[in-house]
Amino acid sequence: MFDCIIVGSGPAGIQTSLYLKHKNILVLGQETNGLNDLDLIKNLYGFDEISGPELMRRGILSAQNQGILVNIESVLSIEKMNNHFKVITTKNTYETLTVLLATGKPRIPLKKKGFLSFRGRGIHMCSSCDGFFYKNKKIALIGSGPYMLEELKVLENFTTDITIFTDGADVDYVLNYPIVKEEILEFIGEKRLNKIETINNTYEVFGAFCAVGFPQANDLALKLGIITENSNIIVDNNYETNIKGVFAAGDCIGGMMQITKALNDALGASIGILDYLRNI
Ligand SMILES: Cc1cc2nc3c(=O)[nH]c(=O)nc-3n(C[C@H](O)[C@H](O)[C@H](O)COP(=O)(O)OP(=O)(O)OC[C@H]3O[C@@H](n4cnc5c(N)ncnc54)[C@H](O)[C@@H]3O)c2cc1C
Repeated sequence: MFDCIIVGSGPAGIQTSLYLKHKNILVLGQETNGLNDLDLIKNLYGFDEISGPELMRRGILSAQNQGILVNIESVLSIEKMNNHFKVITTKNTYETLTVLLATGKPRIPLKKKGFLSFRGRGIHMCSSCDGFFYKNKKIALIGSGPYMLEELKVLENFTTDITIFTDGADVDYVLNYPIVKEEILEFIGEKRLNKIETINNTYEVFGAFCAVGFPQANDLALKLGIITENSNIIVDNNYETNIKGVFAAGDCIGGMMQITKALNDALGASIGILDYLRNI
């Protein structure tokens, strides 16, 4: 029986494992990670710049070097037993007293011509990560719902030359920005994105931020009966969910989607988990 199984080997999961390394713990992760898509991170303490995959590699390696067990196994489901949990993966079934969900939050890509070619080269999925590249520049924000509004608030710190592209959807908000409701056909550029083509027009932009729908729902949490809102797992001050013994940290609980925030959550969650283990 493990004291804690950590689902997710990104910054939140690995950092929590470092705080809990004196307990009997297991980290379960997948090859794909929120960091995979990051070309260069330039806002992290201690690094001039580092690529996402390299940071992930070093994170997992440093945990393993400290004796922490990190298995690449996808978790299929988590079941609540009387006073512990059963974690079922593609390879095994494990038992544990507590679970930490640190499953991240994949951003939804747009299925449009040119989107994947310019992703990271003018098309961005994270305003707080990349907005500062576009100080006073003309940018597009793609989306129409509450997620788009959240991203807009961040982007306004960098530029007010923002055009909102709803890609055919209606917008229920009154906004002081031009709104293009036509369907997007293609993202165009040479080395970097510089135009967005819609059914009727072509718009010149320096960059585009995608905030379509909600970042993907957390299926494991939902299956366990964990309360989520806008696909964020709801946690209390101890990072515990409504299911006692299940904790969550990082992008999956919402807030700023940043590595430093995920690391801070890891500290809070590890304190919560240690308290819980002490009290049972
Ligand atoms: C394009 C882009 C650019 C970004 N730029 C920056 C930046 O410059 N600076 C910055 O600080 N942040 C940046 N971020 C945000 C940063 O990547 C995230 O905030 C951070 O990775 C969150 O860490 P996490 O541990 O919560 O989630 P993740 O890093 O996403 O890790 C989640 C882990 O859970 C695993 N997982 C999910 N489901 C399962 C399952 N069922 N079974 C097993 N494992 C599972 C995943 O495989 C992954 O290993 C960027 C994000 C994107 C997408």
